[in-house]
Amino acid sequence: MMVKMQLLSFRKICALLASVLLLPLLSGCGASSPHVRTGFAFDTVVSITYYDGKDSSAVTKVMDRLEHYEKIFSRTDPESELYQVNARLAEAAKEGASPAVVPIRSLELYEALKLSLEYAEKTGGAFDPTLGKLLEIYDFGGTEHRVPADAEREEILSHCGWEKLETAEVSRTGDVSAYPYQLTAADPQIVIDLGGMAKGFIADRLKEELKAEGVTSAIINLGGNILVIGNKPDGRPYGIGVLKPEPGSSENLASFKITDASAVTSGSYQRFFEQDGVTYHHILDPATGLPAESSLRSVTVVAENSAVADILSTSFFVMGEDEAVHFLENCTGIDAYFVDEQNVVRKYLSK
Ligand code: AMP
Ligand code: MG
Repeated sequence: MMVKMQLLSFRKICALLASVLLLPLLSGCGASSPHVRTGFAFDTVVSITYYDGKDSSAVTKVMDRLEHYEKIFSRTDPESELYQVNARLAEAAKEGASPAVVPIRSLELYEALKLSLEYAEKTGGAFDPTLGKLLEIYDFGGTEHRVPADAEREEILSHCGWEKLETAEVSRTGDVSAYPYQLTAADPQIVIDLGGMAKGFIADRLKEELKAEGVTSAIINLGGNILVIGNKPDGRPYGIGVLKPEPGSSENLASFKITDASAVTSGSYQRFFEQDGVTYHHILDPATGLPAESSLRSVTVVAENSAVADILSTSFFVMGEDEAVHFLENCTGIDAYFVDEQNVVRKYLSK
């Protein structure tokens, strides 16, 4: 399957950007004017904003890397590495092989799985990368939505659970052609989904690639998942707005400034469908397999590392505000903005 990378019309870009929850505030950027490279990947608009014309080839080169990452992390693209890992698990399940040991080819997938499992444990399972089977059925990203019946949901849930997965580095002293990493699944019926962290993980990689190309000031925006490199060219921090969590809204409920950091939002209306008068959104409570119910509409997490911000914004949405604040009390360097159903913003600023 071809990666959907295309230049979009200005109007379409504006419409899509308005549908995300965070927006870099670009006013007052000083003498240099911003250049924006835009594409479409991971079902969303991706842009890199930079300020120095001479960086343009570096940015083009890094934008071209999006296809590489999509070919690792997509759950639905049969050519992706994750898809193939899930296919191998399914094969093992069919053969009755348990536990299943699956080779992992790329360092990126290995590291993303490892980080996901580490945070699944830290968040008490609020973040769970094993909900793929349920996500396949709900099909939030597509059009074939189905709500599983209670018995089916329970049966699938009994084959989910991050604690059933383990990653390992494989010793390379023997067969040098062997894949360097592996995943062991105590239950091969698991379907892995990394949609709750892949964009953040990729943003961190794109940052390193841009920095290696000499870029010192830029905004990476993966569908509202924002990471900034350095300060604005005028030496001041970048401004970021938390948008009102409603489709199409461009109203800022809050704003803050960041330098060399990432801001990631999870919201119940980013992806959803309605059936029989009930709205089903895309952030699932791993305890029930149903859309997470809290009084939150969105959570924005600010951290240096975008993968961590992405994982935590999804986790905090599942936990709800009280539990998330309790979690934050034991963290350093992580801020959060909670938006409730009345669009009231409460911010938690880290120690
Ligand atoms: P985000 O927009 O980062 O909050 O991620 C939402 C996406 O993460 C969904 O579209 C699913 O692919 C996946 N997901 C849903 N619920 C969970 C969960 N509890 N833990 C981990 N990933 C999840
Ligand atoms: Mg997330």
